[in-house]
Amino acid sequence: MSAFSRSQRRFVLVSFIGFLAGCGDSDPDAKALKKMVYIDTATMQPVVHDIAVSFPAAHPTTGKLTLRPALYCPNCQKWYPVPPPNEITRVPGAGKCPKDKKTSLTADGPWPDGSGSATKSPGKP
Ligand SMILES: [Zn+2]
Repeated sequence: MSAFSRSQRRFVLVSFIGFLAGCGDSDPDAKALKKMVYIDTATMQPVVHDIAVSFPAAHPTTGKLTLRPALYCPNCQKWYPVPPPNEITRVPGAGKCPKDKKTSLTADGPWPDGSGSATKSPGKP
C-alpha cells in the first residue's frame, strides 16, 4: 500500500502549494503603486496618500474628507484636483489644465513628497 500513501502525500503537497500561491498576492510592484497624488481641498496643497476606494478621501492627518485625486500639468508644473466623474463626462475640456485650457493633465508628475515616478535624490541633512 505504499503507492497509495505516496499519492496521498503528493495531494497534500499540491494543495499546500496552491494555498501558498493563493495567499501570496502581495507583490512589491503592486505595493508601490498603492499610493497616488491628491489635492487637499482645504489647503490646496498636493498630498501623497494611499489610493482610496471612494472620493473625496480622508486626509491622513486631519481625517477630514478633503482629498481629491490630482493630475499634473507639465506646463504649469502644478498639481490640480480632478473634477468629479460626472463633470469629466459632461464638461468639454475637463482633463485639461484649468489654467491654460489646452495642456492635457497627466497622472505622471513629480510627486510632492519626492517619491514616485520622478526620482530626485533629496540631499539628506
Ligand atoms: Zn497648466
